[in-house]
Amino acid sequence: MTIAFIDLQAQRQRIAGRIDAAIARVLADGRFVMGPDVAELERQLSAFSGAQHTLSCANGTDALALPLMAWGVGPGDAVFCPSFTFAATAEVLPWVGATPVFVDVLPDTYNMDPAHLEAAIAAARAEGLAPKVVIAVDLFGQPADYPAIAAIARKNGMKLIADSAQSFGCTLDGKHPIAWADAVTTSFFPAKPLGCYGDGGAVQTNDAALWDVMDSLRIHGKASAADVKATTFAHDPKYMNTRIGMNSRLDTLQAAILIEKLAIFADEIALRQTVAQRYNAGLRDAVLQVPEVIAGGVSTWAQYTIEVADRDGLANALKGQGVPTAVYYPVPMHMQSAYAPLSRAPGGLPVTEAKARTVVSLPMHPYLDEATQDHIIAAVRAFAR
Ligand SMILES: *Cc1c(COP(=O)(O)O)cnc(C)c1O
Repeated sequence: MTIAFIDLQAQRQRIAGRIDAAIARVLADGRFVMGPDVAELERQLSAFSGAQHTLSCANGTDALALPLMAWGVGPGDAVFCPSFTFAATAEVLPWVGATPVFVDVLPDTYNMDPAHLEAAIAAARAEGLAPKVVIAVDLFGQPADYPAIAAIARKNGMKLIADSAQSFGCTLDGKHPIAWADAVTTSFFPAKPLGCYGDGGAVQTNDAALWDVMDSLRIHGKASAADVKATTFAHDPKYMNTRIGMNSRLDTLQAAILIEKLAIFADEIALRQTVAQRYNAGLRDAVLQVPEVIAGGVSTWAQYTIEVADRDGLANALKGQGVPTAVYYPVPMHMQSAYAPLSRAPGGLPVTEAKARTVVSLPMHPYLDEATQDHIIAAVRAFAR
Protein backbone atom coordinates (compact mmCIF):
# COMPACT_ATOMS: atom_id res chain seq x y z
CA MET A 1 0.00 0.00 0.00
CA THR A 2 1.45 3.40 -0.98
CA ILE A 3 -0.25 6.41 0.45
CA ALA A 4 -0.09 9.92 -1.02
CA PHE A 5 1.16 12.65 1.31
CA ILE A 6 -1.24 15.03 -0.43
CA ASP A 7 -3.59 13.33 -2.91
CA LEU A 8 -4.29 15.90 -5.63
CA GLN A 9 -5.72 13.24 -7.94
CA ALA A 10 -8.65 12.57 -5.58
CA GLN A 11 -9.71 16.21 -5.91
CA ARG A 12 -9.10 16.11 -9.65
CA GLN A 13 -11.43 13.11 -10.01
CA ARG A 14 -14.17 15.02 -8.19
CA ILE A 15 -14.13 18.06 -10.49
CA ALA A 16 -12.24 16.87 -13.59
CA GLY A 17 -15.18 17.58 -15.91
CA ARG A 18 -15.56 21.17 -14.71
CA ILE A 19 -11.81 21.87 -14.75
CA ASP A 20 -11.34 20.43 -18.22
CA ALA A 21 -14.25 22.53 -19.50
CA ALA A 22 -12.78 25.68 -17.91
CA ILE A 23 -9.38 25.00 -19.51
CA ALA A 24 -10.99 24.34 -22.90
CA ARG A 25 -12.94 27.60 -22.60
CA VAL A 26 -9.76 29.63 -21.94
CA LEU A 27 -7.89 27.88 -24.79
CA ALA A 28 -10.72 28.74 -27.19
CA ASP A 29 -10.95 32.31 -25.92
CA GLY A 30 -7.22 32.93 -26.21
CA ARG A 31 -6.83 35.71 -23.62
CA PHE A 32 -4.05 33.93 -21.72
CA VAL A 33 -2.71 36.94 -19.82
CA MET A 34 -5.10 39.10 -17.72
CA GLY A 35 -8.12 37.43 -19.34
CA PRO A 36 -11.58 37.85 -17.80
CA ASP A 37 -11.20 34.92 -15.38
CA VAL A 38 -8.48 36.82 -13.50
CA ALA A 39 -10.76 39.66 -12.34
CA GLU A 40 -13.60 37.17 -11.77
CA LEU A 41 -11.38 35.06 -9.48
CA GLU A 42 -10.26 38.20 -7.64
CA ARG A 43 -13.92 39.11 -7.05
CA GLN A 44 -14.71 35.61 -5.78
CA LEU A 45 -11.68 35.49 -3.48
CA SER A 46 -12.72 38.84 -1.97
CA ALA A 47 -16.24 37.53 -1.41
CA PHE A 48 -14.88 34.34 0.17
CA SER A 49 -12.92 36.07 2.91
CA GLY A 50 -14.70 39.42 3.19
CA ALA A 51 -11.76 41.43 1.84
CA GLN A 52 -12.58 44.56 -0.14
CA HIS A 53 -9.91 43.96 -2.79
CA THR A 54 -7.89 41.02 -4.11
CA LEU A 55 -4.89 41.24 -6.43
CA SER A 56 -3.78 38.00 -8.03
CA CYS A 57 -0.09 37.57 -8.89
CA ALA A 58 2.45 35.00 -10.03
CA ASN A 59 3.14 33.24 -6.71
CA GLY A 60 2.90 33.54 -2.95
CA THR A 61 6.41 34.97 -2.69
CA ASP A 62 5.66 37.92 -4.97
CA ALA A 63 2.44 38.36 -2.99
CA LEU A 64 4.61 39.15 0.06
CA ALA A 65 6.96 41.42 -1.91
CA LEU A 66 4.19 43.50 -3.53
CA PRO A 67 2.87 45.26 -0.38
CA LEU A 68 6.43 45.78 0.92
CA MET A 69 7.37 47.44 -2.39
CA ALA A 70 4.16 49.47 -2.43
CA TRP A 71 4.83 50.75 1.10
CA GLY A 72 8.41 51.64 0.18
CA VAL A 73 9.97 49.37 2.81
CA GLY A 74 13.75 49.41 2.39
CA PRO A 75 17.20 49.78 3.95
CA GLY A 76 17.18 50.64 7.65
CA ASP A 77 13.70 49.17 8.08
CA ALA A 78 13.11 46.17 10.33
CA VAL A 79 10.50 43.61 9.31
CA PHE A 80 9.48 41.05 11.94
CA CYS A 81 8.56 37.50 10.98
CA PRO A 82 8.84 33.98 12.36
CA SER A 83 11.94 31.91 11.66
CA PHE A 84 9.88 28.72 11.82
CA THR A 85 8.39 29.14 8.34
CA PHE A 86 8.94 28.51 4.65
CA ALA A 87 11.87 30.50 3.20
CA ALA A 88 9.67 32.85 1.16
CA THR A 89 8.43 34.71 4.25
CA ALA A 90 11.95 35.96 4.95
CA GLU A 91 13.33 35.90 1.40
CA VAL A 92 11.42 38.98 0.28
CA LEU A 93 13.01 41.16 2.99
CA PRO A 94 16.57 41.24 1.58
CA TRP A 95 14.94 41.77 -1.85
CA VAL A 96 13.77 45.21 -0.72
CA GLY A 97 16.85 45.85 1.44
CA ALA A 98 15.01 45.53 4.76
CA THR A 99 16.46 43.72 7.79
CA PRO A 100 14.62 40.52 8.78
CA VAL A 101 14.12 40.28 12.54
CA PHE A 102 13.10 36.77 13.49
CA VAL A 103 10.53 36.25 16.22
CA ASP A 104 10.05 33.07 18.23
CA VAL A 105 6.86 31.01 18.09
CA LEU A 106 4.43 29.70 20.68
CA PRO A 107 5.03 26.05 21.65
CA ASP A 108 1.45 24.90 21.09
CA THR A 109 0.42 26.61 17.81
CA TYR A 110 3.88 27.20 16.20
CA ASN A 111 2.72 30.74 15.37
CA MET A 112 4.32 34.08 16.29
CA ASP A 113 4.78 34.74 20.02
CA PRO A 114 3.35 38.25 20.67
CA ALA A 115 5.52 38.75 23.79
CA HIS A 116 8.69 38.00 21.86
CA LEU A 117 7.48 40.26 19.04
CA GLU A 118 7.34 43.17 21.51
CA ALA A 119 10.83 42.36 22.79
CA ALA A 120 12.17 42.10 19.22
CA ILE A 121 10.69 45.49 18.29
CA ALA A 122 12.40 47.10 21.30
CA ALA A 123 15.72 45.41 20.43
CA ALA A 124 15.54 46.53 16.80
CA ARG A 125 14.78 50.10 17.85
CA ALA A 126 17.71 50.09 20.27
CA GLU A 127 19.91 49.04 17.35
CA GLY A 128 18.78 52.02 15.28
CA LEU A 129 16.50 50.11 12.93
CA ALA A 130 13.03 51.48 12.11
CA PRO A 131 10.32 48.91 12.89
CA LYS A 132 8.05 48.99 9.81
CA VAL A 133 6.16 45.76 9.19
CA VAL A 134 5.12 42.59 11.00
CA ILE A 135 4.62 39.48 8.87
CA ALA A 136 2.63 36.94 10.87
CA VAL A 137 2.55 33.47 9.33
CA ASP A 138 -0.51 31.24 9.60
CA LEU A 139 1.56 28.10 9.87
CA PHE A 140 0.26 24.68 8.86
CA GLY A 141 -3.23 26.14 8.26
CA GLN A 142 -4.13 27.95 11.46
CA PRO A 143 -4.43 31.68 12.13
CA ALA A 144 -1.84 33.50 14.22
CA ASP A 145 -2.96 35.39 17.35
CA TYR A 146 -4.18 38.40 15.34
CA PRO A 147 -5.89 40.37 18.11
CA ALA A 148 -2.61 40.48 20.07
CA ILE A 149 -0.29 40.91 17.07
CA ALA A 150 -2.42 43.61 15.41
CA ALA A 151 -2.54 45.57 18.68
CA ILE A 152 1.28 45.52 18.89
CA ALA A 153 1.65 46.51 15.23
CA ARG A 154 -0.80 49.40 15.64
CA LYS A 155 0.77 50.62 18.89
CA ASN A 156 4.15 50.81 17.13
CA GLY A 157 2.82 52.42 13.95
CA MET A 158 3.64 49.34 11.88
CA LYS A 159 1.88 47.58 9.00
CA LEU A 160 0.72 43.98 9.42
CA ILE A 161 0.89 41.32 6.72
CA ALA A 162 -0.75 37.92 7.23
CA ASP A 163 1.25 35.30 5.30
CA SER A 164 -1.64 32.91 4.74
CA ALA A 165 0.09 30.92 1.99
CA GLN A 166 -0.68 27.69 3.84
CA SER A 167 -3.90 28.89 5.35
CA PHE A 168 -6.15 30.87 3.03
CA GLY A 169 -9.64 30.20 4.38
CA CYS A 170 -8.62 29.94 8.05
CA THR A 171 -10.65 31.96 10.56
CA LEU A 172 -10.36 33.26 14.11
CA ASP A 173 -13.60 33.98 15.99
CA GLY A 174 -15.37 33.58 12.66
CA LYS A 175 -13.27 36.22 10.91
CA HIS A 176 -10.58 35.85 8.24
CA PRO A 177 -7.14 37.40 8.92
CA ILE A 178 -8.10 40.37 6.71
CA ALA A 179 -10.16 41.56 9.70
CA TRP A 180 -6.83 42.47 11.37
CA ALA A 181 -4.12 42.62 8.68
CA ASP A 182 -3.34 45.45 6.25
CA ALA A 183 -2.57 42.81 3.65
CA VAL A 184 -3.21 39.07 3.54
CA THR A 185 -1.10 37.06 1.12
CA THR A 186 -1.57 33.55 -0.17
CA SER A 187 -0.06 31.01 -2.54
CA PHE A 188 -1.76 28.76 -5.07
CA PHE A 189 1.19 26.35 -5.29
CA PRO A 190 -0.45 22.96 -6.02
CA ALA A 191 0.12 21.48 -2.56
CA LYS A 192 -1.38 24.42 -0.65
CA PRO A 193 -4.98 23.96 0.55
CA LEU A 194 -6.23 26.16 -2.32
CA GLY A 195 -3.78 25.28 -5.11
CA CYS A 196 -3.80 25.63 -8.88
CA TYR A 197 -1.97 23.57 -11.54
CA GLY A 198 1.26 25.57 -11.40
CA ASP A 199 2.37 28.71 -9.59
CA GLY A 200 0.05 31.46 -8.44
CA GLY A 201 -0.62 33.83 -5.57
CA ALA A 202 -2.75 36.69 -4.32
CA VAL A 203 -2.78 39.70 -1.97
CA GLN A 204 -5.94 40.88 -0.25
CA THR A 205 -6.44 44.31 1.27
CA ASN A 206 -9.15 46.74 2.33
CA ASP A 207 -6.97 49.64 1.10
CA ALA A 208 -8.00 50.64 -2.44
CA ALA A 209 -4.93 52.85 -2.89
CA LEU A 210 -2.62 49.96 -1.94
CA TRP A 211 -4.37 47.69 -4.45
CA ASP A 212 -3.91 50.32 -7.16
CA VAL A 213 -0.14 50.61 -6.54
CA MET A 214 0.28 46.81 -6.39
CA ASP A 215 -1.69 46.52 -9.65
CA SER A 216 0.89 48.84 -11.20
CA LEU A 217 3.83 46.96 -9.65
CA ARG A 218 2.66 43.55 -10.94
CA ILE A 219 2.70 44.88 -14.52
CA HIS A 220 6.13 46.56 -14.73
CA GLY A 221 5.10 49.70 -12.87
CA LYS A 222 2.56 50.73 -15.54
CA ALA A 223 0.66 53.92 -14.77
CA SER A 224 -1.94 52.96 -12.17
CA ALA A 225 -5.57 54.08 -12.24
CA ALA A 226 -4.71 56.82 -9.72
CA ASP A 227 -1.69 57.90 -11.83
CA VAL A 228 -3.91 58.18 -14.91
CA LYS A 229 -6.43 60.28 -12.97
CA ALA A 230 -3.75 62.62 -11.59
CA THR A 231 -1.61 63.04 -14.72
CA THR A 232 -2.17 63.83 -18.38
CA PHE A 233 0.14 61.43 -20.19
CA ALA A 234 1.37 62.28 -23.68
CA HIS A 235 1.32 58.59 -24.62
CA ASP A 236 -0.78 55.49 -23.94
CA PRO A 237 -0.60 55.13 -20.10
CA LYS A 238 -0.05 51.40 -20.67
CA TYR A 239 3.48 52.28 -21.77
CA MET A 240 4.12 54.91 -19.11
CA ASN A 241 6.08 53.37 -16.23
CA THR A 242 5.54 55.44 -13.14
CA ARG A 243 7.43 53.12 -10.76
CA ILE A 244 9.89 50.21 -10.90
CA GLY A 245 7.73 47.12 -11.02
CA MET A 246 7.93 43.47 -11.91
CA ASN A 247 6.13 40.87 -14.00
CA SER A 248 3.86 39.04 -11.60
CA ARG A 249 0.56 38.12 -13.16
CA LEU A 250 -1.60 35.05 -12.56
CA ASP A 251 -2.23 33.15 -15.81
CA THR A 252 -5.83 33.19 -17.02
CA LEU A 253 -5.72 29.38 -17.16
CA GLN A 254 -4.78 29.18 -13.48
CA ALA A 255 -7.51 31.68 -12.58
CA ALA A 256 -10.09 29.57 -14.44
CA ILE A 257 -8.88 26.43 -12.63
CA LEU A 258 -8.97 28.21 -9.27
CA ILE A 259 -12.57 29.37 -9.82
CA GLU A 260 -13.59 25.70 -10.05
CA LYS A 261 -11.50 24.73 -7.02
CA LEU A 262 -12.81 27.65 -4.95
CA ALA A 263 -16.36 26.37 -5.56
CA ILE A 264 -15.60 23.25 -3.46
CA PHE A 265 -13.06 24.84 -1.10
CA ALA A 266 -15.40 25.44 1.87
CA ASP A 267 -16.49 21.81 1.66
CA GLU A 268 -12.85 20.68 1.52
CA ILE A 269 -11.99 22.75 4.61
CA ALA A 270 -14.86 20.97 6.42
CA LEU A 271 -13.56 17.57 5.26
CA ARG A 272 -10.10 18.48 6.59
CA GLN A 273 -11.59 19.13 10.06
CA THR A 274 -12.90 15.57 10.17
CA VAL A 275 -9.54 14.12 9.16
CA ALA A 276 -7.67 16.24 11.73
CA GLN A 277 -10.11 15.33 14.52
CA ARG A 278 -9.72 11.61 13.76
CA TYR A 279 -5.94 11.95 13.86
CA ASN A 280 -6.08 13.84 17.16
CA ALA A 281 -8.38 11.22 18.71
CA GLY A 282 -6.18 8.36 17.49
CA LEU A 283 -2.80 9.84 18.40
CA ARG A 284 -3.22 12.17 21.37
CA ASP A 285 -2.03 9.61 23.94
CA ALA A 286 0.68 8.11 21.70
CA VAL A 287 2.94 11.07 20.78
CA LEU A 288 4.55 14.04 22.54
CA GLN A 289 2.14 16.53 20.98
CA VAL A 290 -0.79 16.57 18.57
CA PRO A 291 -1.65 19.90 16.93
CA GLU A 292 -3.47 22.48 19.02
CA VAL A 293 -5.54 25.12 17.22
CA ILE A 294 -5.78 28.57 18.81
CA ALA A 295 -9.02 29.09 20.81
CA GLY A 296 -11.72 30.30 18.39
CA GLY A 297 -9.62 29.29 15.37
CA VAL A 298 -10.45 27.11 12.37
CA SER A 299 -7.44 25.64 10.58
CA THR A 300 -7.33 24.69 6.91
CA TRP A 301 -4.93 21.90 7.94
CA ALA A 302 -2.31 22.44 5.25
CA GLN A 303 -0.23 20.08 7.39
CA TYR A 304 -1.04 17.69 10.20
CA THR A 305 2.07 17.99 12.34
CA ILE A 306 2.89 15.96 15.45
CA GLU A 307 5.93 15.89 17.72
CA VAL A 308 7.81 12.75 18.67
CA ALA A 309 11.12 12.13 20.44
CA ASP A 310 12.60 9.95 17.67
CA ARG A 311 11.45 11.62 14.48
CA ASP A 312 13.83 9.78 12.15
CA GLY A 313 12.90 6.45 13.70
CA LEU A 314 9.21 7.17 13.20
CA ALA A 315 9.72 8.30 9.60
CA ASN A 316 11.62 5.08 8.81
CA ALA A 317 9.06 2.86 10.47
CA LEU A 318 6.22 4.58 8.61
CA LYS A 319 8.07 4.40 5.31
CA GLY A 320 8.25 0.62 5.74
CA GLN A 321 4.45 0.61 5.94
CA GLY A 322 3.94 2.80 2.87
CA VAL A 323 3.26 5.95 4.88
CA PRO A 324 5.13 9.07 3.72
CA THR A 325 6.10 11.82 6.17
CA ALA A 326 7.72 15.23 5.82
CA VAL A 327 9.55 17.62 8.12
CA TYR A 328 8.46 21.26 8.08
CA TYR A 329 10.92 22.76 8.93
CA PRO A 330 14.21 21.05 9.83
CA VAL A 331 16.36 24.21 9.76
CA PRO A 332 14.77 27.49 10.89
CA MET A 333 15.46 30.56 8.77
CA HIS A 334 17.75 32.27 11.31
CA MET A 335 20.03 29.21 11.14
CA GLN A 336 20.24 29.17 7.32
CA SER A 337 23.67 30.32 6.14
CA ALA A 338 22.31 32.86 3.65
CA TYR A 339 20.24 34.60 6.31
CA ALA A 340 22.52 34.54 9.33
CA PRO A 341 24.57 37.61 8.31
CA LEU A 342 21.52 39.67 7.25
CA SER A 343 19.13 39.01 10.06
CA ARG A 344 18.52 39.41 13.79
CA ALA A 345 17.07 36.96 16.29
CA PRO A 346 17.06 38.92 19.53
CA GLY A 347 17.67 36.73 22.57
CA GLY A 348 17.70 33.60 20.44
CA LEU A 349 14.71 31.53 19.39
CA PRO A 350 14.63 28.58 21.82
CA VAL A 351 11.11 27.38 20.99
CA THR A 352 11.76 27.49 17.24
CA GLU A 353 15.02 25.55 17.63
CA ALA A 354 13.41 22.91 19.86
CA LYS A 355 10.42 22.42 17.55
CA ALA A 356 12.63 22.08 14.48
CA ARG A 357 14.06 18.93 16.10
CA THR A 358 10.77 17.18 16.94
CA VAL A 359 8.07 18.06 14.37
CA VAL A 360 6.97 15.62 11.68
CA SER A 361 3.96 15.87 9.39
CA LEU A 362 1.64 13.03 8.37
CA PRO A 363 -0.39 12.62 5.16
CA MET A 364 -3.18 15.20 5.12
CA HIS A 365 -5.80 16.09 2.52
CA PRO A 366 -9.59 16.32 2.36
CA TYR A 367 -10.01 12.92 0.70
CA LEU A 368 -8.00 10.79 3.15
CA ASP A 369 -10.39 7.88 3.70
CA GLU A 370 -10.93 6.31 7.13
CA ALA A 371 -9.30 2.96 6.33
CA THR A 372 -6.12 4.63 5.08
CA GLN A 373 -6.08 6.97 8.02
CA ASP A 374 -6.56 4.08 10.47
CA HIS A 375 -3.56 2.36 8.86
CA ILE A 376 -1.47 5.51 9.42
CA ILE A 377 -2.65 5.90 13.01
CA ALA A 378 -1.91 2.24 13.76
CA ALA A 379 1.57 2.56 12.25
CA VAL A 380 2.37 5.61 14.41
CA ARG A 381 1.00 3.89 17.52
CA ALA A 382 2.98 0.71 16.82
CA PHE A 383 6.22 2.71 16.64
CA ALA A 384 5.43 4.87 19.65
CA ARG A 385 4.67 1.83 21.80
C1 LIG B 1 4.40 28.39 0.12
C2 LIG B 1 4.67 29.54 1.00
C3 LIG B 1 5.02 30.80 0.49
C4 LIG B 1 5.39 31.06 -0.94
O1 LIG B 1 4.50 30.67 -1.90
P1 LIG B 1 4.99 30.37 -3.40
O2 LIG B 1 3.71 30.42 -4.16
O3 LIG B 1 5.63 29.02 -3.38
O4 LIG B 1 5.91 31.45 -3.81
C5 LIG B 1 5.14 31.86 1.38
N1 LIG B 1 4.96 31.68 2.69
C6 LIG B 1 4.64 30.48 3.23
C7 LIG B 1 4.44 30.37 4.71
C8 LIG B 1 4.49 29.36 2.40
O5 LIG B 1 4.20 28.18 2.94
